[in-house]
Amino acid sequence: MNRRKFLDKSYLGLSTILVAPEVVTNLGKKKNFLTQKNHHVFAISTWNVPEANQIAGKALEDGLSAIDAVVKGVAYEESNLLNNSVGKGGAPDRNGIVSLDACVMNHNGDCGAVLAVENITHVAALAKEVMEKTPHVILAGKGARQFAIKQGYRPENLLTEQSKKAWKKWLKNGNYEPEINVENHDTIGMICCDKSGNLSGACTTSGLAYKMSGRVGDSPIIGSGLYIDNNIGGAVATGLGEEVIKTVGSFLIVELMRNGLSPQKACEEAVNRIIEKQKGKPNFQVAYLATNKTGEVGAFSVQSGFSYSLYKSKTNKNLVSNSIYK
Ligand code: ASP
Repeated sequence: MNRRKFLDKSYLGLSTILVAPEVVTNLGKKKNFLTQKNHHVFAISTWNVPEANQIAGKALEDGLSAIDAVVKGVAYEESNLLNNSVGKGGAPDRNGIVSLDACVMNHNGDCGAVLAVENITHVAALAKEVMEKTPHVILAGKGARQFAIKQGYRPENLLTEQSKKAWKKWLKNGNYEPEINVENHDTIGMICCDKSGNLSGACTTSGLAYKMSGRVGDSPIIGSGLYIDNNIGGAVATGLGEEVIKTVGSFLIVELMRNGLSPQKACEEAVNRIIEKQKGKPNFQVAYLATNKTGEVGAFSVQSGFSYSLYKSKTNKNLVSNSIYK
């Protein structure tokens, strides 16, 4: 099967490359004359998340910056109680505590991340606040929570009755064995391109269900769960974070694109880097989603079952990714 069948390269099309000459105004201030504000906007997200992707796409159409659009889009899943891998309603750790991880990266290469945060739903927005309001890139645990409260976030109980029930059921055996797709690797990794042609991304998750207390996966780690280079493109990851971290997957994909690979080939190579270290067929899932600067999209996963959302020209689609194992 030709895997490019899944990826309509022409769907996004080539966009105008914008030149933004900087001139000095008579006030002596530099002004960016980015007059052409009609770049074709698009939003891509891991998994079938039509509402989140649509919210981001619509925000981009309305002129929001890519960084604000990704945060707005993923916020939908963070408060979606039915999504048990992201935000409120996410599966807890083995002690029954929900702890969330998130990061963001903008077109300037600035980034922010929060790790193992309890009681705060909108952790991608919080990661953006870390990026914008602190001299740091990462805040973890209690410090991240304290920072959130200082910024006006309201602490909430993130463990819903439904996820509590599922956790209690899991406790009966208490074995942690990552299962293929079964755990709903619904971590949302989103990349947006705004009207100025700038790329930004966000990644937000509750991590692996029933993880060890304190465990952090790839999602909030810049270069692993997310990487953006505004001159090249961006990549996001979902699945077993330990495997993504070992190969610095998202950074790898962007660097492969820098060296001339298409987003599709770059995602395939990043999956291969994981697979070549395994003895036999692995029992975990890892999936990548990437775009280059021209809006060409690629996706690839270890196991079948991965799909992604694509918003373009006011239309949202869910597209199935190809995988190494069927
Ligand atoms: N990548 C996430 C993690 O390892 C999990 C997932 O995508 O489901 O924390």
